[in-house]
Amino acid sequence: ATFEDAGLHPAMLKNVEMAGYDVPTPIQRYCLPAIHMGYDVIGIAQTGSGKTAAYLIPILNKLMGKAKKLAAPRPNPATFQEGIDPRTRAEPLVVIVVPTRELAVQIFNEARKFCYRTMLRPCVVYGGGTFRDQEKQLQRGCDVLIASPGRLIHFMNSPEILTLRRVRYMVIDEADELLMEDWKEELTQIMSGGEQEEGNINYMLFSATFPKAARELAKTHLADTHVRLR
Ligand code: AMP
Repeated sequence: ATFEDAGLHPAMLKNVEMAGYDVPTPIQRYCLPAIHMGYDVIGIAQTGSGKTAAYLIPILNKLMGKAKKLAAPRPNPATFQEGIDPRTRAEPLVVIVVPTRELAVQIFNEARKFCYRTMLRPCVVYGGGTFRDQEKQLQRGCDVLIASPGRLIHFMNSPEILTLRRVRYMVIDEADELLMEDWKEELTQIMSGGEQEEGNINYMLFSATFPKAARELAKTHLADTHVRLR
């Protein structure tokens, strides 16, 4: 199996090539078709397995075809001003929740490679960063949001800055770490998808180990049809 066989959009195939990826890793070989077919996915995978690209490539590839229609409205840079403008609030299509700032930045950099020439714009927010700077980033337009849970909830509490009502794909990465750090309640709030505008959210849960708390989270939020990998 190669990336050429995966039925990727030509622009995405080009981005994969430019990233220097020749052969899909095992987790990528499973996740590409599973996510393409619309399954929720549980991936038991360590860092280094290629798990980030395993969900980023098929999710972004799915959205690319519809990017013109779906991508967030962009504020005009000439007239963009500081302050809250309801037309430019972030309405991401993809949300990726991670336990650390380091992982958030790493995934953001990976997302930038695969978003190149797709009209999809990635954005990252995490605890410890400046609220004002992150708010401005969000208001510049955000289709793919990578976030740590505390900061994500903070911005969710300001609906004029961020709303999750258009989210189509939600990834919980390093779920075991998140649960170990006691983010269970926040994850439940983030994953509940309460104010969804239309359609359903596809959920992906990645974890190096699969403790009871992670199994419970998966059982509550993921559809029964999922692919489990080891
Ligand atoms: P991850 O497990 O997502 O943290 O990825 C580990 C490293 O492997 C990252 O530096 C990726 O850029 C790289 N990588 C991911 N997929 C591939 C691939 N198919 N071929 C070569 N390198 C890859």
